[in-house]
Amino acid sequence: MRIFKFGGASVKDAEGVRNLLRVLEETGTEKTFLVVSAMGKTTNAMEAVVDAYFKDKSSLPRAMEAMQSFHLDVLQELFPAGGHPVYERVGSLFEEVRGFLAWNKSPKYNFVYDQVVGYGELLSTVIVSAYLNDSGIRNTWLDIRDYIKTDSNYRDVKVIWEKTQQAVSGLLGRSELFVTQGFLGSDDNNFTTTLGREGSDYTAAIIAYCLNAESVTIWKDVPGVLNADPRYFEETRLLDQISYREAIELAFYGATVIHPKTLQPLQRKEIPLKVKSFLNPSDPGTTVGKGKGIRPQTPCFILKKNQVLMELSSLDFSFIVEENISELFKLLHDHKMKVDLIQNSAISFSVCFDNRFGRLPDLLQHLKGRYKVMHQEGVSLYTIRHFNDAALASLQDGKVVLLEQRNAETVQLVVK
Ligand code: ASP
Ligand code: MG
Repeated sequence: MRIFKFGGASVKDAEGVRNLLRVLEETGTEKTFLVVSAMGKTTNAMEAVVDAYFKDKSSLPRAMEAMQSFHLDVLQELFPAGGHPVYERVGSLFEEVRGFLAWNKSPKYNFVYDQVVGYGELLSTVIVSAYLNDSGIRNTWLDIRDYIKTDSNYRDVKVIWEKTQQAVSGLLGRSELFVTQGFLGSDDNNFTTTLGREGSDYTAAIIAYCLNAESVTIWKDVPGVLNADPRYFEETRLLDQISYREAIELAFYGATVIHPKTLQPLQRKEIPLKVKSFLNPSDPGTTVGKGKGIRPQTPCFILKKNQVLMELSSLDFSFIVEENISELFKLLHDHKMKVDLIQNSAISFSVCFDNRFGRLPDLLQHLKGRYKVMHQEGVSLYTIRHFNDAALASLQDGKVVLLEQRNAETVQLVVK
């Protein structure tokens, strides 16, 4: 079995769906399992529906209509003749959302979120499946919620592997083309759950694990995994081969291409993960798999913007030791700061972190009076894996380096 995952960008409009068909015509559809995300920015639009429901009910009808007319436009482009049963299916999915919102009594945001937002994937897969069937590519639409079983920690669930494995095993040996949703699961009460934003890659990995798949391919609008984000770096290079270990390292430092959660199940069964271009499906792309390091051997650049650099020193010239450091880490953790790097000397401790939840003022308040605190917001953290002198020089050029840290393979610079 091969698992193909098509993300929101690959099916952002009718043309995207037509292109998906072209990809399948080129790759063939034998023993293939399609995992599809919501179309384009649908998940964001669905989040807006949930926000409207909780914060401003008067704007709810407008938010719903925007979503519905977007999908209707896609349908009209793909099925211009009208009268196709897919119109009714899509219409009834919207009725389900409206019905849920009308009858729901739960005040719990995360619960409501999961019940509503997941319709993005149900809609996209109903449309893709119908379009492929009409184009002569026979396929079976599956409701992934019958297969991926999770706990009830809505918006951030954990997969219950035994139950999931058991359900997915029922698909073993079947050879038709399947089309199903990314991102979704269901809990013990059969309520919809979601795996966290960008969770569809993880869905592909879960299915691959349970089916002992031969590979997972993530179809993207880029040629594969690059050594740097082209939005911030000139002259990027395509990586042909990345080991699981290296991919996890890159993700740890902030590369956003592949989520570590996605890699873990694949790595355990040594299932290769390919990242390929949906515009040039026969190009080789990138393969993440067994082995060491990366090929070609080239420095990889990762940028995290908008970080905070904080330097603490003791008020009385005493050492900063285990006791203080463990206290500091507890404070950082309590304020949901994601620590990127630390450096300490006898009487000072520097830490660069992501102030993701905006709780910096509160944290500073806790530290005041106990340490001398200096901090800078809006700094950037650059990481270079497999650095060399030229790579380092190219980064330092014209920037004020506030802090540097290096080990054999990695250098990190905090710059203003
Ligand atoms: N549609 C979901 C999101 O945008 C899941 C995914 O695309 O992976 O986060
Ligand atoms: Mg998406």
